[in-house]
Amino acid sequence: MSDAPSRAQRLFVAQDLSEGAQVTLPPEQAHYLSNVIRLPIGGAVLLFNGRDGEWLAHRAEGMKREVRVMLERRLRDQTPPGAIDYAFAPLKHARLDYMVQKAVEMGVGRLSPVITRFTQVNRVNLDRMQANAVEASEQCGILSLPALDEPRPLDRWVADLSAERLLVFCDEDAPVADPVATLRDAPEGPVSLLIGPEGGFSAEERAMLRAHGRTVVLSLGPRILRADTAAVAALALVQAVRGDSRA
Ligand code: SAH
Repeated sequence: MSDAPSRAQRLFVAQDLSEGAQVTLPPEQAHYLSNVIRLPIGGAVLLFNGRDGEWLAHRAEGMKREVRVMLERRLRDQTPPGAIDYAFAPLKHARLDYMVQKAVEMGVGRLSPVITRFTQVNRVNLDRMQANAVEASEQCGILSLPALDEPRPLDRWVADLSAERLLVFCDEDAPVADPVATLRDAPEGPVSLLIGPEGGFSAEERAMLRAHGRTVVLSLGPRILRADTAAVAALALVQAVRGDSRA
């Protein structure tokens, strides 16, 4: 049997994956494979579903317009979701798309939209966030899709944090301090990272976040970053100091 071509298309599917199983792909993925990348019969794809690892599959004969793939063997075992939870005030369309994609690429295990005093977007399209998360995970090779929470008010999110989690609060008003040292010297525990809206946090919100027992205030330097930039910078730091970039 052929080896997995390293550049085979990766697809997230809902079905269970097991040896010999056949999967009929939904119309959008069928269209993509047939008409966009023109995968021939017998061509290889990689499938994952967030539960059963990554599988090599080949396109089988199908009815007109139908795209069916036959599963051959598991190439990678399932890996657990990332340990970092990422909370953020939702942004407008294009920036939110970007931020969700980048957060997934950076390996977050949970995406939690929080509504803050100065959040400008109060309705969040979770289907769109999910689609962005799927696209990013297909592209970057992760096997666990992050969990996606319903939007919550900021104080609810703080109250719901489990006791062992460290709340890393990115605050552009914090005195500039070495972020590596800050993260390294902070108490043990998985990180819940918080980035605010374009309008920043209110004074009351800052006080509430600082009063929480396990908060670490993180400065990302002397410039005010846009929220989507701050997300990538902060996630890179957390992964480097406490996460899976250390391996
Ligand atoms: N209040 C700001 C803009 C907020 S930037 C203004 O003057 O308009 C959006 C979010 O990005 C902030 O809430 C914060 O979480 C994060 N952020 C941006 N720059 C940062 C920095 N230098 N240090 C820490 N966090 C930063």
